[in-house]
Amino acid sequence: MLNKKSVDDIQVTGKKVLVRCDFNVPLKEGKITDENRLVAALPTIQKLVKDGGRVILCSHLGKPKGKALPEMSLAPVASRLTELLGQEVKFVPNDQVVGENVKSAVEAMKDGDIILLENTRYREEETKNGEAFSKELASVCEIFVNDAFGTAHRAHCSNVGVTKFVDTSAVGYLMQKEIDFLGNAVNNPQRPFVAILGGAKVADKLNVISNLLEKCDTLIIGGGMAYTFLKAKGYEVGASLVDDEKIDYCKEMMDKAERLGKKLLLPVDTAVAKAFPDPIDAQIDISVVSAAEIPADMMGLDIGTQTAQMYADAVKSAKTVVWNGPMGVFENPVLAKGTVAVAQALADTDAVTIIGGGDSAAAVNQLGFGAQMTHISTGGGASLEFLEGKELPGVAAADDK
Ligand code: AMP
Repeated sequence: MLNKKSVDDIQVTGKKVLVRCDFNVPLKEGKITDENRLVAALPTIQKLVKDGGRVILCSHLGKPKGKALPEMSLAPVASRLTELLGQEVKFVPNDQVVGENVKSAVEAMKDGDIILLENTRYREEETKNGEAFSKELASVCEIFVNDAFGTAHRAHCSNVGVTKFVDTSAVGYLMQKEIDFLGNAVNNPQRPFVAILGGAKVADKLNVISNLLEKCDTLIIGGGMAYTFLKAKGYEVGASLVDDEKIDYCKEMMDKAERLGKKLLLPVDTAVAKAFPDPIDAQIDISVVSAAEIPADMMGLDIGTQTAQMYADAVKSAKTVVWNGPMGVFENPVLAKGTVAVAQALADTDAVTIIGGGDSAAAVNQLGFGAQMTHISTGGGASLEFLEGKELPGVAAADDK
């Protein structure tokens, strides 16, 4: 269990509480296209409102890099949160995030009121964890609550810097839930524990592979990264995505698995095509070949049918499954079959199923399996760093219990 002060451990009645949320939602023409992160933030906000706190919400959205870009304003989030909460979330925009209008709005707040500040990344210092902006944020509140798991792997003003200038810093329910689910799965799993890694490159997941090999019973590799492993086994992988600099690393990991007595599963067959689909969802002709016999002019773009069956069987016998990264180019329906098969296996099992954020979360939701998973993380980068065994600065900065 996370040993940090939580919203259950603080007295907020009549107090100004600054809550760092992760409202970094995708927008299309000013409309929110995936509101999972907003929904995930509601329990903490509702708890603080119920307890009579004066709730000041803040978040980043996108990467405006210190510029007040109107298309990255949090205005649409305020409107949607108002609907979701059934209570006004007053948007108090300021290009500097904190300013005179914010101070007067905060002074006018009554117990249980909610306001939302503008995108914290309108300020360049935000991502540099600068002291001045951290102090400005701290100046509007008496208590700080961090519920933004999605940025917990970064030390920025609004999640780490601010804690130095506030007496009380706690974590919210979402943060607690994320750490409890991921932490239990990795450090205290019901066994057999099967970890599934996919996605594009081995280089992005070096430490995750190594750390999970130590913790799990079976490590399954799919996606683009599988071909570097296959090449390390001495196979011909044709034009598949290969990280030549990481071939030795893959050999090391295969040796490590053997030394630790862990199963490391690699594709035995693969869907191949002449070229990467362009656009990504373009019509594409594929064939399925043995993983040991990829033709020189073809590239592997998904796991094959036998592999999908083998991976689904491994999931079937597991009690805990952690999954990060798609099994193929799932954005293309023809190349999504491996990812769908794995998602289906997770949906069918009674095991604890944890989905790392980012592409795997998008894939599971897009394919309609979201509701059948035990937990889908709201943070891609943060969940990966957690799976690497790293301490997350956004969590570490909160007060201990
Ligand atoms: P990541 O962000 O590392 O989880 O990678 C996700 C991306 O990997 C998705 O956009 C997939 O299309 C891509 N991907 C999966 N399998 C392959 C593959 N065999 N070759 C190239 N890209 C792939």
